[in-house]
Parts: sequence; structure tokens; C-alpha cells
Amino acid sequence: MSKKPSNSIIYWIRSDLRLSDNIALWEAAKSNKDLIVIYIKNFNKSFSKPGLAAESWINKSLQELSSRYKKLFNLNLQVYDGDYNSIFKSLYKETNFASLYINSTHDPEIDKIDRFLEKEFSGQFNVFSFNSSLLFNPNEILNNSGTFFKVYTPFWKNALNKLTLRDPLPIPKIKAVYKKEIKSISQKEVDFKKKDWEKKILLHFIPGEINARKMLEEVAIKIDGYSEERDFPIKNNTSQLSPYLARGELTANEIFGTIKKNKNKMNINDYSKFTAQLGWREFSYNILFNFPKLPKKNFISKFDNFPWQKNNPNLVKWQKGLTGYPIVDAGMRELWATGYMHNRLRMITASFLIKNLNMSWTEGANWFWNNLFDADIANNSAGWQWVAGCGTDAAPYFRIFNPTLQSIRFDKGGKYIRKWVPELKELPDKFIHAPWELTEIELVSYNLQLGKDYPYPIVDHKKTRDEALKNYKKINISK
Ligand SMILES: Cc1cc2nc3c(=O)[nH]c(=O)nc-3n(C[C@H](O)[C@H](O)[C@H](O)COP(=O)(O)OP(=O)(O)OC[C@H]3O[C@@H](n4cnc5c(N)ncnc54)[C@H](O)[C@@H]3O)c2cc1C
Repeated sequence: MSKKPSNSIIYWIRSDLRLSDNIALWEAAKSNKDLIVIYIKNFNKSFSKPGLAAESWINKSLQELSSRYKKLFNLNLQVYDGDYNSIFKSLYKETNFASLYINSTHDPEIDKIDRFLEKEFSGQFNVFSFNSSLLFNPNEILNNSGTFFKVYTPFWKNALNKLTLRDPLPIPKIKAVYKKEIKSISQKEVDFKKKDWEKKILLHFIPGEINARKMLEEVAIKIDGYSEERDFPIKNNTSQLSPYLARGELTANEIFGTIKKNKNKMNINDYSKFTAQLGWREFSYNILFNFPKLPKKNFISKFDNFPWQKNNPNLVKWQKGLTGYPIVDAGMRELWATGYMHNRLRMITASFLIKNLNMSWTEGANWFWNNLFDADIANNSAGWQWVAGCGTDAAPYFRIFNPTLQSIRFDKGGKYIRKWVPELKELPDKFIHAPWELTEIELVSYNLQLGKDYPYPIVDHKKTRDEALKNYKKINISK
């Protein structure tokens, strides 16, 4: 039976909440067929479905995007909820659309869905998929033996030699829009009713492409001094673009391009260090592509026998920022209050959970997944495995952060701690990193009662460090 001629096509928004530099949307608009734009909430039922913070971000961003589609193109964004298979069946039956345009998310769980759709609907509609979010396809950078790089430095060196940036695509002109009402599937309203927690975390960021672009314009200035100061949380001179990248309001192509345009005005070390961080994102996706179980399984399988403690009651204390280690607590409270945590703190808090509290990195990754605005399946999994020592190019197992020394080094005057752990704000700089070292008389003089106003350390660093090292020996890790 030959297919009926069709006048419509669909662009399906997933992790690409933007109009600019959007290849799938650009190509769809070029086709001159009547465009239908859809978003499907909860289509991904797997563990990689958005966590709570990401979900809030998406809802807010979608609200803005929907009104921009209306204003710019008089197009009603169709928001659905639920089973993608039946949604596409109904859409096809009702509109007889010819093609589905998507940007690949590079999330293996969603890749499976994309492949399923291609197969299930072959002969009905075509699926056109593009890489719009990464600088390279995740299987593109290979070593001389044709396999993927497991070490970052040669990966990025090789990648930089191959890098060609696209001119960022402008917002396309969408001439033809599907005008009939789609009746067979009920629409979900694009509403955004803020819960109390959302109100609080959204005070620190403004989701949406419009703000993303404002931040992008200022990025070269924001990261002035990046190479020297990016590790000091209170200096606030990292880009904070990660949520916009994770939700696809900006592309790496455009960020890299903007930085490159400003190169001659920038310190070369800032330029190289910052673009190298974009490289770590590419590297994480390269690992995830080649080891799709990365979010759940140790890359180095010897770690499967590591005696991590399950059902550890200290997990909640870590989550709430009540471990008694001020720098750890400050990081965890920043996360809870803002949906973001500085990279140095991600490393310190992760190391503390894994190496001092002896809990599996997956427990921490789950908490981050739910609470980070920038929760990203490749970066989060690779970041946690890196700290645990079980990932590719990971931190050596014997590097166990001493939270007190980290605190003295990266928050010398204790400003970051004072911001997030206000019960310690009266302590002099010298004691803020380790309040348990104060004598009873000193504690009284600073009006601080340990165990009541602020906890005693829940574990002893030295003792738990030694135990961790013994456990690493047991599984015979040689690195
Ligand atoms: C345990 C752990 C969990 C993490 N979870 C996530 C996550 O879920 N999502 C996420 O985007 N990043 C994650 N990271 C990486 C990093 O902490 C954040 O990307 C960074 O803090 C975001 O802030 P920024 O945008 O100001 O970064 P900048 O320093 O301005 O860097 C620019 C961009 O480069 C990328 N980048 C920077 N550092 C890294 C890195 N180490 N690995 C991969 N990409 C990087 C990010 O996309 C970032 O926006 C994690 C790191 C660790 C140690």
C-alpha cells in the first residue's frame, strides 16, 4: 500500500529547550511542510528521567519557550504526557506526518527509544536525528587502534585537532505551521505552579534560553581569572552555564564559539582551562556512549566487590549538611538551597560520602541527580566514578580528600562556610574549618554549643581514611 502524501512534519523537543543553534528545528523549518512542535512529559520512564530540580527547571523553561513559539510563529506547542508510542501512533493517524525531527540526547536510555521509533514506524514516517548538543559525536574521537580514549588528556588533544565549530544557527524562519487542532491526544497545560522548595531554588537561577543568552554574552568577563581562581567557591568566577547546557538552552558549539571570539581579549590560560572543561563534558559522553551502563555500574569491575556500606544512617546527615565537617555541610546546603554546587565542593562532598562514610558512589549520584539543576547523565555518572576511583582516568583511590585541609586551602577565610553554615559565622577564621578543635571555654565565648547548635563530626577522618585504604587493598586495585 503506498503512503498517502503528507504535508506535515514533527519536531520533538527533548533536552533542547531552545530556538537558536538548533539543528533539528532548523532542518524541520527548511522542509516547508506544516510544522508541529511537541514536548512529551514523562516519556522516559528509566532511571535517567529528570530529577526534581531538573523537572522544575524544565517546566519553567518550557513555559517561556511555549510563549515564544506563539509570539514568533503563532505556533501552539503541543505538550503531552506519557507513553510516547501511543502518542506517535495517534499523531500519525490524525496528521499523517511525514517525518520526525529530533536532536539526539546521547542518553543511552533515550537512544533506545529513538531506535525503537525508527523501527516501529518505518514505512510510516522517517526519523531524522542530529547531533546538536555536543562538539563531536560521542564515538567520533578514537585513538590509533580505533577504540575510544579512556584518558582525558590525549582525548582532548586529539579532539582539538579535529574541532571545527559551526556558525551558530539563528532562530529559523518557520513559514508553515500546522493549523488544525490535534484532537486525538489530550494536551497538558504548560503551567508552572511553584512549590515552596522550587520558589527558593529558583531565586538563584533564571531558567530559559533568554537568560542563557544574556549569561553567554557575559561569559568571557565572568570567567576572568578562571585558571587561577576556579577552585575557590566564594570567588564565583566559573560560568554557571551548566544547567543551560544540560537542559539544552545553549550548545557547547555556541559557548566555545563565543569564547573563541573573545580569545584575544582573554588571558590565554583562562581560555584553555575553560575550553578544556567543555572537553571534559565531551569526554564524559564519549565514555557513556562506549559504556552505557556508566550511571549504574563501576567502569572498573574490580570495584563490584568493594565493601561499601548499605543503609548507612549517615546518608541523611550528609544530604542535610549535618556531618560536622563545615566545608562538606556548606556544599550540601548550597546544593539544597540553590540547585547548584561548585565543582570543588562536588569533589569534596563526594569524596567524603565515598571514602569517609564508606557509601557507594551511586547513593551520592542519586541525590545529586534529584537536586542539581544541571543533572546530566554523562557528567554526573563520570564525576562520581572519577571521585570513587572506579571510572576512566579516575582520581587514584589513595587520594582521599582531607575535608579540613581542603577547607583551609580553598576557603581560607571561611567566607563560603559562613554563607551556608551561619551557625558558625562568629568563629574566627582559624577555627571555622574544624570547630571541634575549640576548647569548652572558647566554645562558650563564641556562643556555640557543639552537639546542639552544630554537630560534632559524625566520623573521624583519620580512622575512616585508613579503613577506606584497607578496603581498597582488599579489592586489589593496583593504580
Ligand atoms: C561528583 C560530581 C558530579 C557532577 N555532576 C555533574 C552534573 O550532573 N552535571 C554537570 O553538568 N556537571 C557535573 N559535574 C561537573 C562539574 O562539577 C560541573 O559541570 C560544574 O561545576 C558546573 O559549573 P559551571 O557551569 O560554572 O562550570 P565551568 O567551570 O564554568 O565549566 C564550563 C562547563 O564545562 C563543563 N564542565 C565543567 N567541569 C566539568 C567536569 N568536571 N566534567 C564534565 N563537564 C564539566 C560543564 O558543562 C560546565 O558548564 C560533576 C562533578 C562531580 C565531581
